Amino acid sequence: MKIAVASGKGGTGKTTFSLLFSKAIAPSFYVDADVEEPNGAIFLKPTVNSVEDFTEPVPRIIPGKCTYCGECAKACPYKALVIIPPPAKKTLFFPELCHSCGVCAYVCPEKGALIEVPRKKGIIRRGKSGEIDFMEGVLNLGEASAVPLIRELKRRVKNYPGDVIIDAPPGTSCPVVEAVEETNYVLLVAEPTPFGVHDLSLVVEMIEMLSLPHGIIINKAQEGNTLVEDFAESKGMEILYRIPFSEEIARMYSRGELPFGEFEEGFRKVYKRIKEIAG
Ligand code: SF4
Ligand code: SF4
Repeated sequence: MKIAVASGKGGTGKTTFSLLFSKAIAPSFYVDADVEEPNGAIFLKPTVNSVEDFTEPVPRIIPGKCTYCGECAKACPYKALVIIPPPAKKTLFFPELCHSCGVCAYVCPEKGALIEVPRKKGIIRRGKSGEIDFMEGVLNLGEASAVPLIRELKRRVKNYPGDVIIDAPPGTSCPVVEAVEETNYVLLVAEPTPFGVHDLSLVVEMIEMLSLPHGIIINKAQEGNTLVEDFAESKGMEILYRIPFSEEIARMYSRGELPFGEFEEGFRKVYKRIKEIAG
């Protein structure tokens, strides 16, 4: 199964849960798809056995062949190209705006005037920690979109025979949609605070639009606080687990450690429940 772990906002404990869950159901494959700020490796401490560049094609205009007609710039949906016609005859390319859509190459009427060349947009690291396979994408700062790198991570685990845990970026934007799409189940990690419930409601709306089965994990659950429970009840959603608030876990987290081994029995029950629903 492919299980995505998402949250309406950062700092809910999404990565902590993803890693503890991956360990509880190991052998498994943990994929850190929070490519703008991946931090799973800090806690998992995998042995990294490969680091590859992630590249995408971008245009290169060949002086001497280009007639400065401006068709490519006119067609670029992201304004990444500027063509200054004769007598100035200048071309400007803004790589951070380019989404590698290929439109400019498609519309260029002059053969060989605009070629596509690979440009490094990030890296993909792979490794292993015990029974957990590990992969993370790291997007270069300032890149236009995290979506292609997340898509590539997912492509690489598409045929993995075991269970894959996809640690999605926080929020509800396109990268999150890319991370959770076509998974079997989405676990939503939420904190029992008014902000936490507000952001949870946004991510639930998105998941419902994608028609994906989903359930809630409450992190930092506190006796007597029913904010998330009340929301879940109003939406008819299932709460699969409550991770209690713990200063000890917070201290461990600040040291780059996690309580691997704790909650395993409970998380295996969560996994069993997910299998019943989506397996
Ligand atoms: S469309 Fe081709 S020929 Fe025209 S300005 Fe762009 S690169 Fe040059
Ligand atoms: S590949 Fe797409 S986004 Fe990039 S410059 Fe060409 S048209 Fe613009």
